[in-house]
Amino acid sequence: GAGAPSPMSRQAAIPGVNAVIAVASGKGGVGKSTTAINLALGLRELGLRVGLLDADIYGPSVPKLIGTSARPELDDNRRMVPLAKFGLAVMSIGFLIDPDSPVVWRAPMVVSAITQMLRDVDWGELDVLVVDMPPGTGDAQLTLAQNVPLRGAVIVSTPQDLALIDARRGLAMFTKVEVPVLGIVENMSYFQCPHCGTRSDIFGHGGARDEAERLGVPFLGEIPLHMDIRATSDAGTPVMVSDPQGVHAMAYRAIAVQL
Ligand code: ADP
Repeated sequence: GAGAPSPMSRQAAIPGVNAVIAVASGKGGVGKSTTAINLALGLRELGLRVGLLDADIYGPSVPKLIGTSARPELDDNRRMVPLAKFGLAVMSIGFLIDPDSPVVWRAPMVVSAITQMLRDVDWGELDVLVVDMPPGTGDAQLTLAQNVPLRGAVIVSTPQDLALIDARRGLAMFTKVEVPVLGIVENMSYFQCPHCGTRSDIFGHGGARDEAERLGVPFLGEIPLHMDIRATSDAGTPVMVSDPQGVHAMAYRAIAVQL
């Protein structure tokens, strides 16, 4: 397993950053990044100064979500300056690595890369930094959860049993390192037909709500599987930006206010 972090690095605050919130998932592909950026935008709407750190080393999707992968510039102290996009300060491991070469880093490298992005980036003054975590509950995630002074974690899950088992693991991990779980978001909760609006519970809707109740953590809300969410994300204009008055934006906003 991961070695014990040094007492110096453990939980050391990030200067200028008031709170760090992790968005995590037990496995990939459940919509963690999509949720992270839309929640970050929801928090910004509340008048907060918000940063978004895409720490998903295995598949950084924030460059695509914001439609840019420019290399960050360095400030006078040779710290990387986050990109300013949609009112967010954005940093992604995807700005630094070649998106076409698969990352096969070992856990300590993952942790050191993410720690650098937290600490060697000129975040400025932020009320909240949202961290899109790498999926899973391995060494890298555990060490990160230990090293970063997390205010809390949001767990994203689909309703499927398997995803929930993974989500449960995620929950156990944060509990182990005494990071409060702010709640569970059920993504792809049900399918909503973009043509007729009919709702179909293709993954068996409601699993996350039941599970949250069983585990005694807040259920933060549900986001449907909807074409618009995928299309806007792929277009580099998340639904909070492209359709701020729409139902999906409302749903994200309703989750953001609970954080
Ligand atoms: P993760 O970060 O968990 O790997 P992503 O946020 O990258 O997942 O989402 C994976 C894919 O699913 C992306 O193509 C994304 O646009 C799409 N997606 C995520 N959430 C939804 C949703 N609620 N409805 C439709 N598509 C979604």
